[in-house]
Amino acid sequence: MCAYCDVCGAERDCRIVQRDETYPVKGELITVGAEVMLCVECGTDLFNAELDERNLELAFQEYRRRKGLLGRDDIVGIRGKYGLSQRSLATLLGWSPATVARYEMGALPSVPHNEQIRRFGDDVEYVKELFEARKDRLGQYARRKIEGKLSQLNSVPEEFLEKYILAKHSIHNDALQGRNEFDLDKTAGMMAFFASKMKDVTKTKMFKLVWYSDFLAYGRTLKSISGMVYCHNLHGPTPVAHDVLLAYMQSIGLIDLKSDASGIGESVDTLIAFDESMFSEEELRVLNDVYRKFDGFSATRTSDISHLEDGYVRTQMREVIPYDYAMSLKAIQ
Ligand SMILES: [Zn+2]
Repeated sequence: MCAYCDVCGAERDCRIVQRDETYPVKGELITVGAEVMLCVECGTDLFNAELDERNLELAFQEYRRRKGLLGRDDIVGIRGKYGLSQRSLATLLGWSPATVARYEMGALPSVPHNEQIRRFGDDVEYVKELFEARKDRLGQYARRKIEGKLSQLNSVPEEFLEKYILAKHSIHNDALQGRNEFDLDKTAGMMAFFASKMKDVTKTKMFKLVWYSDFLAYGRTLKSISGMVYCHNLHGPTPVAHDVLLAYMQSIGLIDLKSDASGIGESVDTLIAFDESMFSEEELRVLNDVYRKFDGFSATRTSDISHLEDGYVRTQMREVIPYDYAMSLKAIQ
């Protein structure tokens, strides 16, 4: 291999050596194991566009790794997961198509954009929300394609659902799980309790009932019943990843979902008998108190009541609700 060496003023043989090189990336100095071309005669660095690009790419990669930023392949992968073109991804995220194109060319995403795309890749519910809000801006073809992918993602295998649910709820965090371990049997037991005592408990109402039960139990005994993690959602508190949770419980035969009387929402039906031996006396008292409080209330009314609770008022959309807020429950104590 040879190249023109400025110092020698002639074509010279050259060789490639490995050497640590430092590059500035977005104001940070990043050192990488670079490959550099040298003149064999005088040892001067010789410019080589290909190596230069490769080294810079390594520095970008290292910067991405440090900041947890997604790379072009990640973004292409996320588009593929949902069957999206660059344009339709941009539409759903509210970005310009040029921005998506730039990131796929290797440009570093901004931190907020990075968070958004990461969530888009991880959280099907978020994608569904964006899709519902912005589908009118997509073409017919793009719409149908995404709908197809989203429905496929709903029928993911059990093991995946289980892993996902455990990752969201079994997080060994006392403040967020109410000093308890996540217990799916108890979760199903709570739902069985309410579904067997009330008629047509919609998903929305069921989520409030279990939330109130867990929080009330924590307020009284400093221990939740199910160990579930809850977050702030549109219609009040819900278990984190609530739709996946129900899909999983349905797939393993704990519950069934059926269209409710109005035909609008879905209600949660239990497929197991309520087994009270699973619960302590105090827990049974909590369940009965929550039942008595909300029996006969519509989902909307139940949801409205939950909207007044500190745990809801003082948290943002999608934010996890710490069990500390159980100390100031208003609807029931
Ligand atoms: Zn030279």
